Amino acid sequence: MIDSGKPLIDGWLEGAKPGYRGDPLRWLERWVRLPHSARSTQFDSELAPWLNDVIRAVCDDHVKSIMVRLPTGAGKTTFLELITCWIVAQQPGPMLLVEQTDDTSKDWAESRLMPVFEACDPVARLFPEDRHQKRKSSIIWPHMAMFMSGANMSGLQGKSMRYVYCDEVWQFKQGILGEAVKRLHDRWNRKFICCSQGWDSSHDAEEIWKIGRTFEWGFTCAGCDNWSKWAWLDIKYAELAEGETEWNWQALRESVYHECRGCGHQTPNTTAGRRAMAAASSYEGQKTGNWVDGHVNFTLPAWAVWWIDWADLVVEWVKANTAKRLGNVDPLKQFIQKRGAQIWSAEDDRPNVNLLAANYSWVDYANGQKIDGEATRFITVDVQKDHFWVLCRAWTSVGTSKLILYQKVLGVDEIVDIQQRLGVRDNLVFMDSGYESGTVYDYCSRFSKYNDAGWLWNSGWTALKGSKQERFAHFPAQGKRVDRFFSPPAKVLGASGKHCRLISWSNLIAKDKLTHLRAAGPDVWAFPSDIGAAYMKQLVAEAKRDVIDKTTKAVTQRYVPIYSENHAWDCEAMQVVAASVTNILRGANSE
Ligand SMILES: [Zn+2]
Repeated sequence: MIDSGKPLIDGWLEGAKPGYRGDPLRWLERWVRLPHSARSTQFDSELAPWLNDVIRAVCDDHVKSIMVRLPTGAGKTTFLELITCWIVAQQPGPMLLVEQTDDTSKDWAESRLMPVFEACDPVARLFPEDRHQKRKSSIIWPHMAMFMSGANMSGLQGKSMRYVYCDEVWQFKQGILGEAVKRLHDRWNRKFICCSQGWDSSHDAEEIWKIGRTFEWGFTCAGCDNWSKWAWLDIKYAELAEGETEWNWQALRESVYHECRGCGHQTPNTTAGRRAMAAASSYEGQKTGNWVDGHVNFTLPAWAVWWIDWADLVVEWVKANTAKRLGNVDPLKQFIQKRGAQIWSAEDDRPNVNLLAANYSWVDYANGQKIDGEATRFITVDVQKDHFWVLCRAWTSVGTSKLILYQKVLGVDEIVDIQQRLGVRDNLVFMDSGYESGTVYDYCSRFSKYNDAGWLWNSGWTALKGSKQERFAHFPAQGKRVDRFFSPPAKVLGASGKHCRLISWSNLIAKDKLTHLRAAGPDVWAFPSDIGAAYMKQLVAEAKRDVIDKTTKAVTQRYVPIYSENHAWDCEAMQVVAASVTNILRGANSE
C-alpha cells in the first residue's frame, strides 16, 4: 500500500480509484465484507451466482433500467449492499434508495448498510468527516449524496437522481413507481433498479417489466447438456396414493428430487446436489420481443436457490393446494409470488362460477340440528328499508360450511325467533349497518348487557360495515402489528344509550374470498338442493370489474352489481367476515 499519510488519498490510490476497468465482481470480492451474511462475510461470487449478471448490469453504462424478480431469501439485500459500495467508490452519482416505509428505510440504512460501508475500505475512507452529514435518511459524501426514503410521494418529490433503487415494489401503492422513475430526469447515465418478489398482474411494475428484455435463470443438465428453465414441474415428489387422504410429511419430504424434463436425469434433494445445479446455471435472454435497448429484467424462482430445501417448498405447495380446494387461495398466491417470484394474474382471482347444490334439504336442519363436525354458526342480516334478509350458515373448524337458512323477514322479532330456534349466540348475529346505521346500532345494542361496574360484558349483536379500505391494522397484546381485511371491533353507541360492537370489512377482499369458496363446490361450501331460485340468482348478482376513478384515473377493482337484488351475496360475504373474525377461516398474516 502506498502510504501518503492521508487516509482519504490512500483510498483513491488503492481500491477507490475510479476508472477500475476489470470485472466488477473481482473488485467486490477484493473490497466488500458482509458482516450480516449467514453464509460468508467475504463476498464470494460463486455463492449466489444468479446475482453476478445483475451486478454486471448495474456496472454497465449502457443499461438504464434493471428489474429483478426474485424469491424471498435469494440474497436481495446482499445485492444492494454490493452495488451501493461499487457506486460510491467507482460510479458515483446522487442515489435514492426507496423502501416500503420511511421507518423500514431508516432501520435498514442504520442496521445493515452502515456496517457494510464501514467494512469496505474504499467507501469508509470517503465517509464525510462531519458526523452530521451521516444521518439515517441521507449520507452526504464529498462526491455524492445518498438518500433513503419510504415509498411515498413526499419522500420522492423534488430530487434529481442518477440512481434510483426501489425495494419490494410489489408493495408500492399505485403511482409511486412512476414518481420514482421521474427522479432520474432522463439523465443520459441514469439507472433505475427494482428488486421485488412477484406482483399482481394489475400492478404498475408490470408496465416497466414489459419494456425490458427478460433473462431467465436456467440450468445446464448434467445428463443431456441442454439448458432448461428452472421449472416447478421438474421438482418431483410422491403424490398421494389412490384412496389416501392424509399426507405422511416425512415420507413426502424424502421423496423429493429434481428431474430433467429432457433426458430424465435426476438430482437428489441434497445441499450438494442443489449447489452443483446452481453452479451449472446461467441466464438466457428472451430471443424475440418488443423490448427497449438498455432495459433488462432478471428472474429466478426459490427452487434455483441452492440453500432453500426443495422439501420445504414441496410441503408448502401441497398445503397451499389443500387450502385452495377449501376455497382459500391466499397460500397459493403467496407461493407463486414469494417462492416462484412470478406474477399472480387477475384471472387467478376470478374462478368460474360453478353452482352445484349439496345433497341435503332445508328441513334437515330446520330446528337447530348441528351439521357434522360443526364448530360454530353465524346469522348474517342484510338490512333493507322495510324488511330484512336473514342467512344462517354452520361452519366446521377446517372452514367447510353448510347454508341452513335463508329467508326474508319483516321485523326484528322474527330474527330473534330464528336465532333462538337455530341456537345462535347473540354476538354471532351480524347485521349490516351500511344503511340506517343508527337504527342498526339500536337493534344490535338491544341485547347488550352491562355488569354492576357499568362495563359492557355481552355486546349483543355485532354491526358490520362494508368498506373500500382493504387493510385494517390490528395490534395484538403480544407481537407485532398485523393487517387484516376487517377492523378490530369498535364500541359504538346506539340511540337507546347502550353500546354494541362495530366491525368494518373490505368489500373487495371478503368477496374475493367468497368467490373462491363459491367455486370450491358443495363439499366445501354447501347450499341445499331445495334452495330456490331467488338465492341462486342473488348469488351471482355481482361481478368483479376494473373501475376507473374519475379524479385520479387510477384503475382499481370492485364488485359491481349486475343484478340489483344481491342480498344473498351480501349475507354470504358477511359470513366470510364472521368466519374470519372468529378464525374459522384463516388467511395469510397480512391479508
Ligand atoms: Zn437432461
